[in-house]
Amino acid sequence: MKLYNTLTRKKDEFKTLDGSNTVRMYSCGPTVYNYAHIGNLRTYVFMDLLRRVLKYEGYNIKGVMNITDVGHLTDDDDNGEDKMAKTAREQKKDPWQIAKYYTEVFLKDFKRLNIDVPEIVCKATDYIGEMIEYVEGLIKNGYGYETDDGIYYDISKFSGYGQLSGNTLDDLKAGARIEVNDGKRNPYDFAIWKKAPKEHIMQWPSPWGQGYPGWHIECSTMSRLHLGDQFDIHTGGVDHIPIHHENEIAQSEGFTGKNPAKYWIHGDFMLVDGGKMSKSLGNTYTIDQLIEKGYSPMVFRFFCLNAHYRKKLNFTFETMDGAKTSYERLCASLLKHKNSPAKTDASVLEKYEKEFREDIQDDINVPSALGVLFTMLKEPASIDVYNLALKFDKVFGLDFDKLEEEKQDIPAEVIEKAEKMQSARLEKNWAVADAIRAELTEMGYVIKNSKEGYTIEKK
Ligand code: AMP
Ligand code: ZN
Repeated sequence: MKLYNTLTRKKDEFKTLDGSNTVRMYSCGPTVYNYAHIGNLRTYVFMDLLRRVLKYEGYNIKGVMNITDVGHLTDDDDNGEDKMAKTAREQKKDPWQIAKYYTEVFLKDFKRLNIDVPEIVCKATDYIGEMIEYVEGLIKNGYGYETDDGIYYDISKFSGYGQLSGNTLDDLKAGARIEVNDGKRNPYDFAIWKKAPKEHIMQWPSPWGQGYPGWHIECSTMSRLHLGDQFDIHTGGVDHIPIHHENEIAQSEGFTGKNPAKYWIHGDFMLVDGGKMSKSLGNTYTIDQLIEKGYSPMVFRFFCLNAHYRKKLNFTFETMDGAKTSYERLCASLLKHKNSPAKTDASVLEKYEKEFREDIQDDINVPSALGVLFTMLKEPASIDVYNLALKFDKVFGLDFDKLEEEKQDIPAEVIEKAEKMQSARLEKNWAVADAIRAELTEMGYVIKNSKEGYTIEKK
């Protein structure tokens, strides 16, 4: 199985670090200060597909996803206000209440989109003590230093900075903005701990007075605690590459001397009408808003599955309409197969499964795997085809098992006659076929033939 690794910039053969069957995987979770928008959710559908493909390939997964409930500033690079504190102030609510509410809504979205919740979900505020220890370790190892407003990571100490994004230290120096933070050794150093002004809502005692953790230190601390100094896969959206993940690597190298993950895998962004999603444009849609507009969560999941995770996905209501029609056709076709007692040759099924596996093993090429499904559904109607589609759905997660059943109890004798009739038709023995059709009509059954095969219906 091959996965595109942002770190090596190529598709790497997947092999767990310890050679075992268990994949240790860390996924950057949401900042719970607002509803997740469809762009955020695209990234978690991608995480879910990766997990499902690994499971299909026989791996067990120990997945960890954090919930950021403190420390993520309005700008990823240390500027602005803590997103949680800002919302708390604006909504005149307690930040803990806000975090609890949006975490619950987020996990409800997971459920509606058939996103399997990772085995461990951990929230940052439960690990403040461990984060402080991490910061102390970085100071001790010569990477962290104190200023008037916090503890900073000295990027000049880590020569490997920039390996994920290609932004070398020289690029950073050239592009650094002049900041009014005199205490920093280099303008591009980042905060690992912030000292809190008195009025700051979320703050904890630390060796450096009252304060709160930097966003990046949260992920380094929680991933290490749950998965060890090094683990197999780290995921996130592409926006995390140049700052958040670069900083996570720098922190781990400073603390443990190692890059924390073997494979860094990033999902590309969702655009709306070809542009950025933003609150000011009013296009940060939620799943609830899509439901109100008549699109089920499964249609949205299907929409996401149609684009490779490393390609941008442009959301428009026209393309969603297309996805809705296509998903409905898919379900209708699946039902036809489900209701057909006919069989399909094992070699035909094997060919489809082989193609499906080749696609998912090739850097999770789910759009191509969907293509295999669509081609397979053109086979003559057969329960075998439906059963294989159900197996594929372990990856797709599109609820094929919940398709509405047309309640029909068709006696074996009727099925046998229908099969004979089909054979007669194939041999162009129309007289025999017509005679059987007449018998079946007498018994109260109608056989409907189409390009895709046949179905039996009660009159
Ligand atoms: P946040 O809650 O801001 O930390 O974001 C949660 C996840 O959503 C992160 O992994 C981001 O990379 C991802 N994300 C944010 N905006 C988009 C977008 N427009 N399309 C896809 N993923 C996104
Ligand atoms: Zn993270």
